[in-house]
Amino acid sequence: MGCAEIISFDEVRARKHWTTLRQRLHARFDQWLDQLESALPEGEPTLGQVSETLWALRQQLTGGIAETIVHHMHAEEQQRSSRPCPTCARLLPARGPVPRCVETLVGAVALERPYFYCAVCCTGTSPLDEVLGLRAGRMQRDVQQAAVDLATEVPYETASTLFGRLSGIPVSSERMHTFTHQVAEGLTVVEMAPSRAEIDRRVAQVAAGRFRRPVLVLGIDGAYVPSRPESARGRRPGQARHRARRAQWRHEWREAKGFRFYLLDGERIVHVLSWHQVQNEHELGEALRQVKEAGLIPQETVRLCVVCDGAEWIWKHVQTLFPHARQVLDYYHCAEYLHKMAKAQYVDSVHAQEWVEATLTRLSLGQVGQLWLPDNTLLC
Ligand SMILES: [Zn+2]
Repeated sequence: MGCAEIISFDEVRARKHWTTLRQRLHARFDQWLDQLESALPEGEPTLGQVSETLWALRQQLTGGIAETIVHHMHAEEQQRSSRPCPTCARLLPARGPVPRCVETLVGAVALERPYFYCAVCCTGTSPLDEVLGLRAGRMQRDVQQAAVDLATEVPYETASTLFGRLSGIPVSSERMHTFTHQVAEGLTVVEMAPSRAEIDRRVAQVAAGRFRRPVLVLGIDGAYVPSRPESARGRRPGQARHRARRAQWRHEWREAKGFRFYLLDGERIVHVLSWHQVQNEHELGEALRQVKEAGLIPQETVRLCVVCDGAEWIWKHVQTLFPHARQVLDYYHCAEYLHKMAKAQYVDSVHAQEWVEATLTRLSLGQVGQLWLPDNTLLC
């Protein structure tokens, strides 16, 4: 009996809590309606104009709702007057309130919360941020995840443009890159890769109606990418003015090595798997080995072909892991090597140019047995 009364008391309290929140949400909606009223075009708007107006204001509405819920549900945390230091347990008085604005997929959420700074440990914390599970920086996890989902499908520049247009949240291509890096950190190539069943499905799709097994290309290369040194990553302890002193990191480039598997389907290519990291040759070889050992490459249903720039370290890995793969030197590097060779053999640049052009033409016609070296001996 007493138990039932307690439950009903809790229910009443929960109901009251919810009623209060509803009233606040209604008030927030009313504020938004004022904005809408002044934004709607006068006269008889077209559906396109209505849609455009709502589209431009949608995040003020949804962000405002999120903000109202957060303020209502975490009223106590916003009133907190002290907390023990997480490191030394000294009791710290509240400072602030300190404003912070975070960006979510439903819009911006403005917070005002107490800040607790320990002068002994030189660290500051905001318990509300911890309770809300906020990540450092303005963009929150849902924005980051959506940006990464897009950036893994299309180039960073395109991802940045599309993301801004569709979500209403501007994210630079540089930031897209950072997000992707953060999400990918700690994942192995096998965890990032599609399953063997999915790879089989793509192979079967390309193989359908064809007599010969489809060609699966493994491209391996290195490229310079802009990177941020370790010293500029993450949060620094201490107050913002100290934290802001970061190392310069613009224009720092490091070599990323990576590989990509794709199927040839007539004129188009079908993506299968890619892995690019700032890594050394050994790490790249290790990632390739993991892919092979996880059984992700259906060697019996495809013709494997490796295209790369001819660097020795690449062939070494290919030879060990996929000894039966057809090895192909890519066209651009081949042309580059031919130019170097011609330069070494001919004094006359016109002759050198003629020889390179003739050789490239023979190569593109598949006349590999007809290649004359500059000293008039047959190459093979
Ligand atoms: Zn402390």
